[in-house]
Amino acid sequence: MSSESNFDIIIVGAGPAGATCALHLMNSGLRIALFDQNSFPRFKLCGGAISDRTINAIKRLPGDIYHDFLIAVQRIDVDEFQVIDSELKKYLIQPNKDQYGYIIDRMQFDKFLISQIQKNVKVNLFENHKIIGIREHANHISVESENQTYTAKLLILGTGAKMNFKFNSFKKIYCNYKPIICYEKIFQIDIKDQFKFQIVPQMFYPADLLPCYFWLFPGTNNKFVAGLGKKIIKGKANETIENTFERHFKSILSMVRIKERFYEIFSQGAPITIWNKKQRLSGNRFLLCGDAASLADPVTGEGIGNAMLSGELAAKSCIYLFDIQKFDSKQTKIYDKAVFKRFGNELKRRKLITKLMKNKNIFNFLIKLLSLNTKFLLKKLF
Ligand SMILES: Cc1cc2nc3c(=O)[nH]c(=O)nc-3n(C[C@H](O)[C@H](O)[C@H](O)COP(=O)(O)OP(=O)(O)OC[C@H]3O[C@@H](n4cnc5c(N)ncnc54)[C@H](O)[C@@H]3O)c2cc1C
Repeated sequence: MSSESNFDIIIVGAGPAGATCALHLMNSGLRIALFDQNSFPRFKLCGGAISDRTINAIKRLPGDIYHDFLIAVQRIDVDEFQVIDSELKKYLIQPNKDQYGYIIDRMQFDKFLISQIQKNVKVNLFENHKIIGIREHANHISVESENQTYTAKLLILGTGAKMNFKFNSFKKIYCNYKPIICYEKIFQIDIKDQFKFQIVPQMFYPADLLPCYFWLFPGTNNKFVAGLGKKIIKGKANETIENTFERHFKSILSMVRIKERFYEIFSQGAPITIWNKKQRLSGNRFLLCGDAASLADPVTGEGIGNAMLSGELAAKSCIYLFDIQKFDSKQTKIYDKAVFKRFGNELKRRKLITKLMKNKNIFNFLIKLLSLNTKFLLKKLF
C-alpha cells in the first residue's frame, strides 16, 4: 500500500469493471490508485456463468493473463444449457462453437484479477478502504475514505449495483436505476452423491417471473447454485423474494427429484442494474463502469463481460482525456459514445426482447424457435 494521496486516476471498486480498467492502465505511465472496501478474495453473489464476451475480454488483458487464467481459475465447461418454458416444456440449447462459456467461482475469479494487479507495482491497491464521499473541485476530484482524503484528476467508479457513498452527481444518475432484485442459494452436494449429481445449467421461465427467470447452475467444488431475478413493480403488493424463491424451488425440486442429496450453505439477495439508454455514463471528472453504469444484460442478467468491456473502454477514454488534459463533462462524453458504439445497439435490441418476453405465449414461441434454429437465432436475436 502506498502512503501517497495524490494520483492521476482513482478507481473505486475492484470488481471485474474496476480491475479490468486498472489492468489496461497499468502500463500507461499514469499514477493509478485502486480502492476496494474489502480485501480479496471477497464474496460476491453471482451465478458465475461467463460467455465468450468475458472470455474475449480476458484475452485482451495485457501480457499472459489469459494463459494464467486457464491455469489458475477453476472452470466448468458449458457446451449446452436447458431452457424450461412456462408450460414446463424443456428445450436443450446448444450454442455455436464460438459462443462457448464456463461457470467459474466468482471469489476465485475476482481474486485472480487482483493478483494480476498485485504483480504490477505501478498500480497502488488499497484494500479494506471504503470510500464514503466524493467531491468535484475545479482542478481535481477528491475521494474520502474513513481516515484520509485522496485526490485525482479523474475518477472511475466501478462500485457495483449499490450506492453506499455520498456523491451528488452520481446520485442524480443512480436514482433513475430500476434494478432487478435477485436471490440466490448455494448448496453443497452430499459427498455420496457427487458422481451421480451432475446438472446442466437450467433456466426456468415461470409466467409470474417473466421476463426474469429462475436458474439452477452447477458450481465448482461440488456445489450448485439456485437463484431467481424478479422485477419490483411499484404500487403492487409484492411477495417477498425469499417466498418467491421457496415457491419456485419447491416445484423445481419435485420435477428433478434431487432433494435430500444436498444441503444449503448460503443464501443472499442482491440487485442487478439493467441498462437504460437515457442514462449518462460520465460527468465532470468521472466515468462509470460495470454495474455502477447499469450495464448488465437485460435478457440474461450477465454482467461480468460487460463490466470488463466497459472497464477496458474507460481505460482507453482515460488515455485520450490525459492526452488532451481536459476532464469536464463535455469531454468525458467520449466514453459514453464509445460504450454506445460498442454495445448500445445490442443492449437496445435485448431490451426490446425483454419487453416481448413479458408475454408468456410470445416467450414460449421464441424459445421454440431458438431450439429449432439455434445457430441462426442466437446470432440474429441474442
Ligand atoms: C444473484 C446474481 C447472480 C448473477 N449471476 C451472474 C452470472 O452468472 N454471470 C454474470 O456475468 N453476471 C452475473 N451477475 C452480475 C454480475 O455479478 C455483475 O454484473 C458484476 O459483478 C459487475 O461487476 P462490477 O465490477 O461492475 O461490480 P462488482 O463485482 O459488484 O464490484 C464492485 C466492487 O466495488 C466495491 N465497492 C463498492 N462500494 C465501495 C465503496 N464505497 N468503497 C470501496 N469499494 C467499494 C465492492 O466491494 C466490490 O468489490 C449476477 C448478479 C447477481 C446479483
